Amino acid sequence: MLPQRLYITCHGLGHPAADIEPDARRFWLPADLFRHTLDVAQVLERDTGISVQFTFDDGNLSDHTVALPLLRAHNRRALFFVCAERIGRPGFLDRARLREMVAAGMTIGCHGHRHVSWRTLSDAALASELSSARRAISEVTGQPVVLASAPFGELDQRVVRAAMAEGFRCLFSSSGGFATAQTGLIPRNTLKSDFEPGRDLPRMAGLPQRAWAGVYDTARRMKYRFT
Ligand SMILES: [Zn+2]
Repeated sequence: MLPQRLYITCHGLGHPAADIEPDARRFWLPADLFRHTLDVAQVLERDTGISVQFTFDDGNLSDHTVALPLLRAHNRRALFFVCAERIGRPGFLDRARLREMVAAGMTIGCHGHRHVSWRTLSDAALASELSSARRAISEVTGQPVVLASAPFGELDQRVVRAAMAEGFRCLFSSSGGFATAQTGLIPRNTLKSDFEPGRDLPRMAGLPQRAWAGVYDTARRMKYRFT
C-alpha cells in the first residue's frame, strides 16, 4: 500500500522580526500564503486520501499569533518543535503560549536547547543538549516530549543514535518525500518563501513521491544505520 502521510515543515509566518537571521528569512511565509496552503491541503486530502501533517520549527512567536488561529479555523492539529533556551525570549513562544497550544491539541517537540547543529557537538555535549532540552520543554508543557527535529535538518549516524538513546520516538528530518512509518526517521518537506501551494503541494504529494517512498526509506535507514 502506498504511504499516506506527508509532513510539511514551516518556520515563521507573517513578517519576520528584525532580529531573525538573514538565512532564516527565506523560510518565512506570508500568513495569507499559509492560509491558502491549508485550503489546498484540505482539497488534496479529500481527493487523494493522503494526510498532510504540518510541523513548525524554531518556536517563533508566530506559531501562536498566526499559525494557531489558522490551524484552529481549519480544525487541524500540528507539531511544533521549539528550542528550550528560546522559550520566553522576545520573538519566541513563552510558557503561557506553549501551554495554550497544548490545551488546543497541538504537540510540542524538541528542536534542541540552543539552535545549533547537533553534528557539531561532542558526544557528551550532544547528550546534554538533548536531555536538558527534553526536560525543560516537558516541564513547560506538562507532557512527555517524544518527538524531535534536528536544527538545520543536520543528521548523521551519531546524532540519530543519540536521539534514540535519549528516548525520542521520532526524529524528523528535512529530506523530502512521504513518511512510511509513524516512528523512527520521518522525512519532511520544507516550505520556502517562493512556495506556491496550488503548484507545489500536489507535486510533493504526487504518485512518484509515494511510489518511491519505500526505497528512500530503506536508503535513509542504511545511511544512518537505523534499524
Ligand atoms: Zn531550526
